[in-house]
Amino acid sequence: MPVAGLYFHIPFCRQACNYCDFHFSTVLKDKENVLKAMLLELENRKNYLSTNELSSIYFGGGTPSLLREEEINQFIQTALLYFKLSPDAEITFEVNPDDVNASALSLWQRAGINRLSIGIQSFNNEELKWMKRQHSQEDSVEAVRLAQSIGFSNISIDLIYGSKFQNLNSWEETLDRAISLNPAHVSAYNLTIEQKTELGLKHKRGLEPGIDDQLSVEQFKRMRKKLLDAGYVHYEISNFAKPGFKAKHNSAYWKQEPYLGIGPSAHSFDLNSRQWNYANNARYCKTIEAGEAHYESEVLSIKERYNEYVLTGLRTSGGCNVQWIEGSFGEIFKNHFETSANKKKGVFKIENGVYSLNEDGLLQADAIASDLFLL
Ligand code: SF4
Repeated sequence: MPVAGLYFHIPFCRQACNYCDFHFSTVLKDKENVLKAMLLELENRKNYLSTNELSSIYFGGGTPSLLREEEINQFIQTALLYFKLSPDAEITFEVNPDDVNASALSLWQRAGINRLSIGIQSFNNEELKWMKRQHSQEDSVEAVRLAQSIGFSNISIDLIYGSKFQNLNSWEETLDRAISLNPAHVSAYNLTIEQKTELGLKHKRGLEPGIDDQLSVEQFKRMRKKLLDAGYVHYEISNFAKPGFKAKHNSAYWKQEPYLGIGPSAHSFDLNSRQWNYANNARYCKTIEAGEAHYESEVLSIKERYNEYVLTGLRTSGGCNVQWIEGSFGEIFKNHFETSANKKKGVFKIENGVYSLNEDGLLQADAIASDLFLL
């Protein structure tokens, strides 16, 4: 029986972080309307997936921790009208450290949330201020400890490296701090400067420096070593987990499993086509209410599906499996993959027909994948 993932995009934040390129609005007065439209979208698309069993529900954003108890319950209870949960289903809720307190944690627990993803980003207060985060590193430590004491064992923390505030020592200090809190999962992203963000605009005007790529490579290597030494499994370029705590929802994306995304800017995938909802709250609500198309879509050709498999597979420790390529796409694709990959043996570990990247390979994963594409 196939399983699938359900994603809710909560497109509101109290304040814009300087680097953030996700879709969100700080106009909180629109929240009620958007949430209403999202529930309607869920009802309209309840048959989108070819299964009624969910292995994961993920609340992302934006800032899901802005939701009130009844709003969270409404999303989960409505989903359960149309879908059943797998016995070990993961329900993740993204939260900002400044929203974590004992009563919020209890209500998230009561709602059935069993995994928290805490947006810590840095343990350096000067850096947090520059990022325009609303919390301090002390808030983050308190948030993780409190969540653990209340019984959340599956906690992921988000970190960012590569900013102008970090040298190798300060990044190692942030990692040591993270490891000392013993979260089950760490997601660490290399900062990128996106054009339309505050950081991007300032960078264009020469007011912010660019990213030092060489420093980012060193930071990646130190992070990998420290987290591996601390018992984490490096299972995707930006993701590390204690054994048994890989993120089910994100892993499903990387394994090309189907998912339904609800809310402005959310993406959906049914194995053959992809839809992406309008990334504009007013337009999203208006089209949903009028019963009109609220997304753009594309049907993926077999080559596009193969290329995506290679791109996402090579970013994970599970790698790309030649038998799977042959079974899913045919012999021509399998031969193309093997011939192109075998020219690059220095960056691969090859075991039983599974090609995964070693550390040197991970540092150039996207470039290697594009050399293996079929165009
Ligand atoms: S990083 Fe998170 S909290 Fe900050 S603006 Fe983006 S979505 Fe909102």
